[in-house]
Amino acid sequence: MKTDISEARRLDNQDPLSKYRQEFYITRDQIYLDGNSLGLLSTRAEAAIHNLLGSWKQHGINGWTEGEHPWFYLSEKLGAMTAPLIGARTEEVIITGSTTTNLHQLTASFFQPEGKRTKILADELNFPSDIYALQSQLQLKGLDPTDHLVQVQSTDGNTLQTSAIIDAMSEEIALIILPGGLYRSGQILDMEKITKEAHQRDILIGFDLCHSIGAIPHQLSDWGVDFAVWCTYKHLNGGPGSVGGLYVNKKHFNRKPGLAGWFSSDKAKQFDMEHSLSPANNAGAYQIGTPHVLSAAPLLGSLEMISEVGIEAIREKSLQLTAYLMELIDKELPEYGFTIASPRSDSIRGGHVYLEHKEAARICKALKANGVIPDFRKPNGIRLAPVALYNTYTEVWQMVQLLQSIMKEESYKVYENKRGVIA
Ligand SMILES: *Cc1c(COP(=O)(O)O)cnc(C)c1O
Repeated sequence: MKTDISEARRLDNQDPLSKYRQEFYITRDQIYLDGNSLGLLSTRAEAAIHNLLGSWKQHGINGWTEGEHPWFYLSEKLGAMTAPLIGARTEEVIITGSTTTNLHQLTASFFQPEGKRTKILADELNFPSDIYALQSQLQLKGLDPTDHLVQVQSTDGNTLQTSAIIDAMSEEIALIILPGGLYRSGQILDMEKITKEAHQRDILIGFDLCHSIGAIPHQLSDWGVDFAVWCTYKHLNGGPGSVGGLYVNKKHFNRKPGLAGWFSSDKAKQFDMEHSLSPANNAGAYQIGTPHVLSAAPLLGSLEMISEVGIEAIREKSLQLTAYLMELIDKELPEYGFTIASPRSDSIRGGHVYLEHKEAARICKALKANGVIPDFRKPNGIRLAPVALYNTYTEVWQMVQLLQSIMKEESYKVYENKRGVIA
């Protein structure tokens, strides 16, 4: 592969998705590589916010049932738009809550300790919020998390071995919660195989798809996954605090919501105002209260764009971008002490590249001062997400050139090697 800019330009010229970049608000002279933390705003998402503001303006309370996108059915509609991204049936998906609240809801619904099976299996690399939620769910059941939360260990600090996960599936495990993609290294777990192994041992399994949804295709229904949760502000470009989502396999629709509320109702009965709940016979049963309509609105636009492009095409370009980035790092920065800690193999690499360096915090500050937006992850990680819908190969090339000059000139040394408040 050539490392000069002509190669980057050639790749951009033959990129079938290049036209989508112009639909996003891209800051001039900035290279945004943080779409795995907060995706950028598109004009379609913006228009969708205005559309729903308009329905409030025009219809007042009647907006629940009138207007182009009646609010009473919005969570189901967005669920249906999301289903193809994860290989689910329409009625198995609902847009509601947040990753953490949905994880609480589905753990409360699916974790039923009984006899010897009283433990939850998770991993030591997951995002803290998931672990806090599991610890508190155990405590609510009167179980001590120190011995009832089992965390699969990583041998290299960045990835998980399928065999280690399977080995941890003991007869004491009632429920498994794992990330589909790891937030630091971006490793994609073999969800199909892990699900099959869990089910062979009568263990229920749910995945957190925060770092895989919108980045890779999934086949949750075919794989038989019991449930899943995710956020929509990362690869789905829903905006800060946009409403999250959940999936429940159809075979569990008779399972009562652990945390019930009036939006768990069968919609036809919701306004009967009875004191005994008749849950919806679909994923909607795991909603709790009134949907956050204005925080769900942008998804109408962003999901429309993603379904128009197709998750397969997004994955293809994303793999090419991350492969190109890794190759440039190998060739242009060999002597500066960087380690590529995300998987090299296409089959298990997610949507971002994870670099380790002992000066990572201040290298990130130097990148930011020069117009590149990466993100820093404690203790020594730099995540770089070239996003298929709006980043270019030329930006990847420019970023690597900048990183090379920061290292060569040691300009990162003017910053403190400490993280900021938000990193
Ligand atoms: C982003 C992320 C979260 C965030 O949870 P919220 O409830 O949306 O704040 C949780 N878990 C994982 C694995 C994440 O990547």
